[in-house]
Amino acid sequence: MSRLWNVAVVGATGAVGTQMIECLEERNFPVGTIKFLASGRSAGQVLEFAGKPVQVEELRHDSFEGIDIALFSAGGARSEEFCPSAAKAGAVCIDNSSAWRMDPDVPLVVPEVNPHAIAGYKKKGIIANPNCSTIQMVVALKPLHDFAAIRRIVVSTYQAVSGTGKKAIDELRIQTGELLNGRPSKNEVYPHRIAFNCLPQIDAFCDNGYTKEEMKMANETAKIMEAAIKTTATCVRVPVFYGHSESVNIETAQKITAAKARELLRGAPGVELVDDPISGDYPMAINAAGEDLTLVGRIREDDSIDNGLNLWIVADNIRKGAATNAVQIAEILIAKYLK
Ligand code: NAP
Repeated sequence: MSRLWNVAVVGATGAVGTQMIECLEERNFPVGTIKFLASGRSAGQVLEFAGKPVQVEELRHDSFEGIDIALFSAGGARSEEFCPSAAKAGAVCIDNSSAWRMDPDVPLVVPEVNPHAIAGYKKKGIIANPNCSTIQMVVALKPLHDFAAIRRIVVSTYQAVSGTGKKAIDELRIQTGELLNGRPSKNEVYPHRIAFNCLPQIDAFCDNGYTKEEMKMANETAKIMEAAIKTTATCVRVPVFYGHSESVNIETAQKITAAKARELLRGAPGVELVDDPISGDYPMAINAAGEDLTLVGRIREDDSIDNGLNLWIVADNIRKGAATNAVQIAEILIAKYLK
């Protein structure tokens, strides 16, 4: 029998953590023991793994003895504080927060794009999972970059509330109900009402006028693609529960026609081409939700520049944008690197 691995899910009660548990089960990850960690507020709560009850424990520095792989999704502050303790105890951390993504000693990995980078985990014992909006964009753009060398990306996102976590999912649900019943609504998670509205702000603003989310898309894309691609992003929160959509314009060094782009994307790893607009077939969040593939469509040549292409890219932010990507990394880690 092949080896089993002891896994800790940090942030097990959250939107990503819950999906992480489902992904481990769905993909039959060879789990020996499993540990669910969260804040003291959730300690004692009982969740299930593979049909068996598992009690949630409070995250502590000594939580990682005997753990082989620690999947972190409990926010940047927890990752910053506890990944080093987990790594010191011998676990390889796969971190969903932004805490370690731009650390030169931490690989930032999307398995369809740069699986070879996983080898760099040994330096700190940490592998970073990119931002959800970046993951789906690079999955779709990698085959086009390999063919035509992308120089510049202009992206506008339409991001679901689940990207902010479980409290934001509740906020949209409750606000929508209140407003439809003619009652006043409150906002606690977002700075303004999200129901029946769009917010051109995701995360805090930086000195340059961009938000941190927008800067993550720019910086992480260049690191994952291992190329000096310039990205300018506008990130918008929309009243959708699951599934981020993106309008993406690329400028390439070589000409790439819409037909060639479709040919390259048809069957590309992790991609589903959905591009028959005349029949009403294009990627939508409602079709991406619950799926692992990145849907790509509305492919058009951009006649306003020499080598330009427009695409519409959609994926489930909690699955491919977080949990699935992390479990895929873990699968490569145990197949190729851990003994
Ligand atoms: P969430 O639904 O709010 O869940 C947060 C999780 O972190 C919960 O399990 C929570 O436990 C735990 N936690 C909070 N404070 C803690 C503490 N002091 N000690 C231990 N655990 C603590 O948020 P989420 O959407 O799952 O996001 C979690 C992380 O993943 C964030 O870093 C986020 O940036 C990243 N991420 C999210 C997405 C997405 O699409 N949502 C995508 C990529 C990356 P309690 O239940 O006990 O509070």
